[in-house]
Parts: sequence; structure tokens; C-alpha cells
Amino acid sequence: MAKLLKTNILNRVFCQYNNCSYKFLSSTASNDYQKQHYDVIIAGGGLVGVSLAVSLAQSESLAEKKVLLLESAPAFKQPSKEKYSNRVSAINKQSIGLLKSLNAWNHIESIRCKPVMQMQVWDAISGEAIHFNHPNFSDQVACIVENDLILESLYKQLENLLNVQVRNESRLESCKLPKDDVKKSEVTLKSGEQFSCDLLIGADGANSIVRQKMEVNNFALSYKQMGVVATLELDAEEAAGNSVAWQRFLPTGPVALLPLTDKLSSLVWSTNVEHAKELLRMEPEMFIENLNEAYLKSYKTNSLVDKFMKTAEGAFPLGRNKMLQVPPRVKNLQEGSRAAFPLGFGHASSYVCRGAALIGDAAHRVHPLAGQGVNLGFGDVLKLTEILSEAVYSGSSLDNIQYLLKYEQERLKANVPIMVGIHALQQLYCNDFPPFVLARSLGLKITNFTPPLKKFFMEKALA
Ligand SMILES: Cc1cc2nc3c(=O)[nH]c(=O)nc-3n(C[C@H](O)[C@H](O)[C@H](O)COP(=O)(O)OP(=O)(O)OC[C@H]3O[C@@H](n4cnc5c(N)ncnc54)[C@H](O)[C@@H]3O)c2cc1C
Repeated sequence: MAKLLKTNILNRVFCQYNNCSYKFLSSTASNDYQKQHYDVIIAGGGLVGVSLAVSLAQSESLAEKKVLLLESAPAFKQPSKEKYSNRVSAINKQSIGLLKSLNAWNHIESIRCKPVMQMQVWDAISGEAIHFNHPNFSDQVACIVENDLILESLYKQLENLLNVQVRNESRLESCKLPKDDVKKSEVTLKSGEQFSCDLLIGADGANSIVRQKMEVNNFALSYKQMGVVATLELDAEEAAGNSVAWQRFLPTGPVALLPLTDKLSSLVWSTNVEHAKELLRMEPEMFIENLNEAYLKSYKTNSLVDKFMKTAEGAFPLGRNKMLQVPPRVKNLQEGSRAAFPLGFGHASSYVCRGAALIGDAAHRVHPLAGQGVNLGFGDVLKLTEILSEAVYSGSSLDNIQYLLKYEQERLKANVPIMVGIHALQQLYCNDFPPFVLARSLGLKITNFTPPLKKFFMEKALA
């Protein structure tokens, strides 16, 4: 604590010396920082980049390090408290733990977040379903939080952490990483300003410039789908407290309703690009009608699949899906809340090199069907902070490749199985070819009726 205080005082002096009265700067600020050296530069102030900035600054062994956070967007504005934002995330237990340790969770809880007590995932073609609830039924399986609220609460923390400089409207245009002639990582902004650092972090999302400069391979594919998001009002009576997350797998992609309040939910409807555009253009009443139909419409089942499933039910004590619940009907669409985002998969062949490391979507991008993208990114933040602290504690520099490789190994172990699982689910569900329908129906049934298997999946996805 004393160390942190000392660092903050030192940084205050540093700020005064450099003539900056406020540490959130825009690119039009003076040139005082040209060729300034930082210990760490984080390119990208999205959810993952900002959380790393807070995490490094709050870590006792890293508190003396000077961090620069570069974000190409204008300064973050306080989100509206009247309307709910259409961009939300299902945050798992580990991510809540991270946000708590960064002192950011209290603020989120004091404003709003919605615990999910149950989840129902079902297949539109076979009707097979799986239900998730915490073994202790009074515990949540995840929490739905608006992305802007997470950012607001992290930026609030940064206001008190003077060892982090935040520069908005500061797009990283290019960078040089340590090679024979270059000793330290160097970055050049769009404005022409240049900085150097011991460690450059690529938190600049799926099209990361840092990743390109690291010259690592990036395995990327487009799902040729878009995620249509919106804020919806449900039939309050049918929603009954609205604490269930619903996801129905349609042949065109999954449609999910995530609870926000007792009668509001957030939509993530993954569908082909043409259909997504059509959904955005539709009159609100037509959109609601289409959405309710997506949840309730009966699909023609395949007689062979039906026959096989009945035989399996007879031969094995798997039981029938008597528990399939009907989701609440959508009644209204919050004005102006519809938007769509392209969906893709991406994975960098390496997360680190001399003088640089990748975190979040810059390293790995997944389909939102399992609500894991930012949770994986928060996992990177936890591990990278732990390993950099370890490096500094043992007298090593931040760009020590042995430590960076340790971060990579640990995160590959955690990220790859989840990414492969999500991609496999996307492929398995995005078609109505009978062998695929049969495989997934059996998979769902067996998992739903095998508690240890279900617990395993819950722990992997929600831990
Ligand atoms: C529809 C949808 C629903 C989702 N739902 C969930 C969910 O429920 N749960 C979950 O865990 N995940 C979810 N995700 C995934 C999640 O949103 C992402 O994984 C997460 O936002 C990635 O955060 P990030 O900070 O790594 O990258 P980004 O959010 O892409 O942030 C990158 C930041 O870097 C900035 N930047 C980019 N280039 C530069 C540059 N050159 N210089 C400076 N700054 C730059 C950008 O402006 C941006 O602010 C969802 C995704 C979608 C599309």
C-alpha cells in the first residue's frame, strides 16, 4: 500500500513535470510525450485492455511501472442510466472475481446487473434440450452486465491510478518490435507521435495491428453470420422474475435472450448476413413477430432421427424431455436498440514474442453462442498480471521471453479447448443434415441426463 502511494506521488510529480494537469489525454495534447518511454504500452482500450491497465496498476509488484493505454476512440462517456445498452456480456464467476479484485464490481452492482439463475438451451429441429442451474440452486450461473457499465467502472478505477496514462483518439498506426537493430518496442500513432516501451500489449481486437507486426500466423474464418442485438421488453407475467437465459438453436444459427431486469432482456440472434440485414430493416412489429416465431415455430423433424431417438430412449434410461419450458413472449423493442456485428473465429499461432504480447480478441475470437469471448480475455488479464508480477519479483525485466512464454502456455491450455468446443458446436448446429441432428440430439440428451458430464460442462463454461 505504502509502495502504491509512493508511486502515485511520484507519478503526480511526473505529471506536473510534464505539464499535464489531467491524465486522460487526447491526441491533440502537447508533444511532451513524444518518444516518452513507458514500461508497458497497451494498444486498445476495450474491455480487456482497460482491465489489464487497472490490474497492472493495482498489482503491488508492478505498481511502480509506468503504463500507457492507447485507444483510438474518443474519450469514454458515461452511459445513459435510463436506457439499457444493446451490448451486454454474460460474465462468469472467474470474471466477476477479477472485477471484484479490481474494485470494479461494487460499482457495477450498485448500478445494475442481472444474475442468471437458469439456462435452457434447445434444438429447434429435434426439440432436445439441456438445462443448467447451479448445483446450489440459489447461486447464479452467470451475470448479465452491459459492456459500457463494465468500462465505466474500470475507468473510474483508473482515475485514481496515476501510474496509468490514458490517451484517447490515439490510434496506433504501426510499431517496431525488438530485433537486432531495435532494442525496445516502439509505437507510432496516427498523429505521428512516437513512444517506446519494454512491453507492448496488443489488446486492439480482432484486427490487431500489434498481432500483424508480431508476424505470427492468425487462423481466421468468417462464419458468414451476423449477431443481431436489441433490447426487448417481455410479457412480464410470462417472464415471472426473468432470471432464465434462453437459447434456441435454429438451422440458421442460435437465438438467445439474456435477462436484464424482471421484464427486459437482451437479444443476440446469430443468423446469415442477408437475414440479419432484413431483421434490421423490418418494422418493429414485424421484427417482434419474427422473433417470437423463431422461439416458438415447430420445425419438421426427420423421421429417421425420430425413430433412432425413440429407440435410444427405449434402450437406455435417459428419460424424455418433459422439462422443456416455453420462453416468455417478446412484446416490445426498445427504440434504436437494434444493431448487428459480424461473427468470426480467430486464433493467433503465438500470443507472445520479444517485447510484445496479445490479450483478448487480438489473440482469440469466438462465436458468441457460449458467451465466452470476454471471459477468455479476462482470463488472459489475470494470468498476464500474475506472470509479469512474478517476473518483476524475481528481478527479471517485463520483456523476459521465458515469462512471456509461460503466459502463452498457460493461456493456450485454457483457451484452446473452449474455442474448439464452441467452434464444434457452431458447426454441429448450423445445419439440418440428419446425421448432425442425430449426433447433437444424442449429445444433448446424454449430457442432460448425466449429472457428472453436465457438471463438467458447467464448470468449464461458467467457472
Ligand atoms: C454480439 C456479441 C455478443 C457477445 N456476447 C458475449 C458474452 O455474452 N460474453 C462474453 O464473454 N463475450 C461476448 N462477446 C465477445 C466480446 O464482446 C469480445 O470478446 C470482447 O469485447 C473483446 O474485448 P477486447 O477488449 O479484447 O476487444 P475489443 O472489444 O475489440 O476492443 C479493442 C479496442 O481496441 C481499440 N483499437 C483497435 N485498434 C486500435 C489501434 N490501432 N490503436 C488504438 N486502439 C485500437 C478499439 O477501439 C477497441 O476499443 C460477444 C460478442 C458479440 C459480437
